[in-house]
Amino acid sequence: MFSEKSAAVRGLEIGGKAPVSVQTMYDSPIAGADVDGIVARIGRLSAMGCDIIRFAFTSRNDSNPFSEIAARSPIPVVADIHFDWRMALLALESGADKIRINPGNIGEEWKVKEVVEAAKDKGAAIRIGLNSGSLPAKFSSLPHERAMVESALEYIDLLESWGFGNIVVSLKSSSAEETVEAARLFSSLSPYPQHIGVTEAGSPVISAVRSTWALGNLLKEGIGDTLRVSMTGDIEDEVIAGVELLRSLGLRKKGVRIISCPRCGRASFDSIAFEKRIRSRLLSLDNDISVAIMGCHVNGPGEAADADYAITGYGHDVCIYSHGRLVLKTDWERAEDDLMEVIKGE
Ligand code: SF4
Repeated sequence: MFSEKSAAVRGLEIGGKAPVSVQTMYDSPIAGADVDGIVARIGRLSAMGCDIIRFAFTSRNDSNPFSEIAARSPIPVVADIHFDWRMALLALESGADKIRINPGNIGEEWKVKEVVEAAKDKGAAIRIGLNSGSLPAKFSSLPHERAMVESALEYIDLLESWGFGNIVVSLKSSSAEETVEAARLFSSLSPYPQHIGVTEAGSPVISAVRSTWALGNLLKEGIGDTLRVSMTGDIEDEVIAGVELLRSLGLRKKGVRIISCPRCGRASFDSIAFEKRIRSRLLSLDNDISVAIMGCHVNGPGEAADADYAITGYGHDVCIYSHGRLVLKTDWERAEDDLMEVIKGE
């Protein structure tokens, strides 16, 4: 079941017997950005179930905001490095709990070694992140999945030869099938933990389908120790998708299960807008409950009878139900706060 070895990323264990963790990647540059706002957003992501967050670390200007974010973030922070080993050193100096590098892009071996020594000094982990688009030329005759695995095994040997074992590996492809094959092959050959995900997976719906198929299959086989559902969309949605996937597989238990009706011509309550409005607040609760957001007051309450809580309405008027019983009549403006109050009050 899952990888034999594990990596330590701040207080979080990836691999071994640790629960599968969910990650996302911050969607904007951090240099010159509002650090308070970023830290607050990480807090919300963490409350929704995000365990790790990664930032692109692209220049010296990222150092100050990154240090502050790393010091204040409630969850481990990862620096994503491309090509420039000096950025890897700076990110580690700035408090990165893990760095993601493709050793092949870093250049000469002494540069990679310097980065590895710095990670060792700081107690940081290294994710060897390979994708099918950037593999060493010597493996070009191999199928992508084989080339990614061979390349990863070679880098692992190199890092191990310098006494470094705090490693996570990711082998990503925009092809869901290649991602699955690479992860399977790697897990059959190496005990190191894997970060799994389909890269450039597309818009939210397309990504959710591709990622669910690929990651769901792997997780059911016991492969994958941490994951990201990459999407061209909100990072909050990436987290929701990752958490939901784990919960659907029984790999993460607690939390709110949001149910919403598909809507039809009877719809009298804007369940789509309401779900969007309240989603992050509901998902921040620890309660193991279901909440149904239904499109009409005629059939909604009946269809939602099995849910712990339900909400629906007619125009401006909104009704809140608890275990099938109408407990509060309210209006559109107050509905969000009132539903949270009802849930918290019980
Ligand atoms: S709850 Fe109402 S709006 Fe939603 S699908 Fe059922 S009948 Fe249609």
